[in-house]
Amino acid sequence: MTIQVTRSSMPTLEDYIEEIKPIFESRQLTNMGPVYKKFQHALIDYLKVQYLSLFTNGHLALETAIQALGLKEKGGEVITTPFTFVSTTHAIVRNGLIPVFCDINFEHYTIDVQKIENLITEKTVAIIPVHVYGNLCDVDSIEKIAKKHNLKVIYDGAHAFGTTYKGIGVGNFGDATMFSFHATKCFHSVEGGAVTFSDPSYRKKLHNLKNFGINGPEDVEDIGGNAKLDEFRAAMGICNLRRMDECINARRKIYERYVERFSNISGIKLCTPQTNVTQNYAYFPVYFDKNIFGKSRDDIFDLLRKHEIYTRKYFYPAINETSCYKQQYSYKDTPVAHDVALNILALPMYEELSLTDVDRICNLILN
Ligand SMILES: *Cc1c(COP(=O)(O)O)cnc(C)c1O
Repeated sequence: MTIQVTRSSMPTLEDYIEEIKPIFESRQLTNMGPVYKKFQHALIDYLKVQYLSLFTNGHLALETAIQALGLKEKGGEVITTPFTFVSTTHAIVRNGLIPVFCDINFEHYTIDVQKIENLITEKTVAIIPVHVYGNLCDVDSIEKIAKKHNLKVIYDGAHAFGTTYKGIGVGNFGDATMFSFHATKCFHSVEGGAVTFSDPSYRKKLHNLKNFGINGPEDVEDIGGNAKLDEFRAAMGICNLRRMDECINARRKIYERYVERFSNISGIKLCTPQTNVTQNYAYFPVYFDKNIFGKSRDDIFDLLRKHEIYTRKYFYPAINETSCYKQQYSYKDTPVAHDVALNILALPMYEELSLTDVDRICNLILN
């Protein structure tokens, strides 16, 4: 039987129908209606954040957050990493800003905080780090650097839904954090996303910018786009949020089985759990060191594919090696990101994956 790298968690059909019934009655289908507000408040509770603004997807949430913080008008450079989904870089560029790529650390694949300050120039306006695979960036060091150099910090938290650091929701760090609720993520609303923040002055800005910059029935204050989350997808989000603990529990069991099978295998590197950080078990990335393990990442990818098991080279290529960015950048500036992108593989990970299938995948890799 075919195994995909991911499979969306779903509520029961009855549960979803129950949640969308009021929409059929009210005929308010979008424009920040009652279901949107219900979803927003449920998320504020779940993510333990002060403020949260919903978006039609994570990408536009990030793009709009960059604009809302005044960075688009300011212009300049933004320090980020090339080991991410291309959305992070595109959001910077589409705001007229210049990405400056900082390398990642080999342990958790997040921004290497030792290398940030060397990249800061008088043009630097912000840092946009990524909580890769739900691994938390070194938020304490980043905050210190940002304070010292007067920079804004926006986290790409697309992978970090629901994780906490010392009991604090990840969405509380930096000036803002973006979350994605895309169907392939561990929590989803089909498509969807959010920005969390603690400065209340961003609330109105984000609200207006996702709705064409309209600030009242008779005026338009900003040059905004359209990035509103509709009522039907908010309803899907509400249903899935209710099941989130169950979903994480199932993922944890899969995670633990993988760890059991792969620990102490020479040439296989797993992400080590971080102290004081809770995990959401969104992904299971494995780094293959060909010289020690004997097989490369690509060998394993091909082998599993022959058995109809589909893994993902995630992230590959690094963003500074994609066609649209490689002319302006050199991967030699970020050697760790280059190496990890070549050797890492995300194994199947989703709520309904059976432990028997996990064992089958592990047996194929280990034999
Ligand atoms: C999924 C993802 C995004 C984009 O989110 P969408 O909801 O798909 O627009 C951005 N950054 C990272 C790291 C992601 O994984």
